[in-house]
Amino acid sequence: MSEKVLAALKVAPSTTELREMDLPEVPPDAALLKVEVAGVCGTDVSQYRLPLRGGPLIMGHENVGYLARVGSLFASHKGVKEGDLMFLEHYLPCGHCEWDHMGEYRHCAATEWFYDPKAIRYGYTSTDTAPALWGGFSRYLYLPLNAVLHKVPAGLSPEQAGVATPMSNGIQWTLIDGGVGYASTVLIQGPGQQGLCCVMAARHAGADRIIITGTSKDARRLEVATALGADDVIDVDNEDALARILEITGGRGVDVIIDCTVGAGTKPTLLGIEAAKRRGGTMVVQGEGNQEFPSFPIGRLTRKGMTLKSARGHSYRAVELALHQLASRRFPVELMTTHRFGLADVDYAIKSVGGQGAPGAIHVSVMPWELVRDGA
Ligand SMILES: [Zn+2]
Ligand SMILES: [Zn+2]
Repeated sequence: MSEKVLAALKVAPSTTELREMDLPEVPPDAALLKVEVAGVCGTDVSQYRLPLRGGPLIMGHENVGYLARVGSLFASHKGVKEGDLMFLEHYLPCGHCEWDHMGEYRHCAATEWFYDPKAIRYGYTSTDTAPALWGGFSRYLYLPLNAVLHKVPAGLSPEQAGVATPMSNGIQWTLIDGGVGYASTVLIQGPGQQGLCCVMAARHAGADRIIITGTSKDARRLEVATALGADDVIDVDNEDALARILEITGGRGVDVIIDCTVGAGTKPTLLGIEAAKRRGGTMVVQGEGNQEFPSFPIGRLTRKGMTLKSARGHSYRAVELALHQLASRRFPVELMTTHRFGLADVDYAIKSVGGQGAPGAIHVSVMPWELVRDGA
């Protein structure tokens, strides 16, 4: 009889069950990751509600753990050994396209799980695909040779390293895509974990003025934003956001806008266009939740000479920079890591990120080797 591993499986929309799965044999070109921490993000909240696209699914795409069983070829090819603490990207790239050679695995066709049913991505691939262990809400994960791993710098705990996913997005969208640097003026919309990581990236890079917006529900998150380096917070429910931004910037507007408000409709995009400086601003938009945009002011965008970019995932380099930044302990990141749950509470953990569970959640972690935790 083969060894078993405990995992939390999504068996239907918004329904999770604990199940014992077979622990696979590890061939020379593969490894197993003993998952220490699996982060829960906003994408999980929307994905959790959707129907299954096949058999039951182990979610969890923000994973940190120790290499447990490492095949000889995997070890020599990757330069790793058993016991190494690794951060795992959720992409499983083809390994030979132009994007992969640039570390832009998010653009590799092989990682497009949404369009290609055969594409494998951690946290999104069903247990129908052998050997089933494709998500972090499980005690072990399967690593084929094309898994993308980063060594966690010494001194960082697995939970601290778990923040590398939102932090790498913050670095990608703010610094690499948004071009924020010394003396920039930045508007960040949405104080969730992504927006807060954008604040830290902008602060670290030397931005002059960092403005962040949220709603009345976000009061605590806006306090955390201030502690992490935001200069001005705006509650869009109770203040005229555009008037405040123009007042703060002396009527000039901001250089860069990063919209991290998924599902807030078209308002943040319209605010971003108006808040941009007279010419040449850049707006980075996380627009996956918006299907339609009637009367998009393309003329206004053109007259302002703006550049519009999409905020979607991160490059290999952004993850390395994120781990480096976390290891520097420059920011009180622990203000963001609000909740941790055991494997039996995956359902509640996801709901907490969606605002339907434990109050005050910002960054939520699942610790698969514990069954139940009190949440805090
Ligand atoms: Zn995510
Ligand atoms: Zn590729």
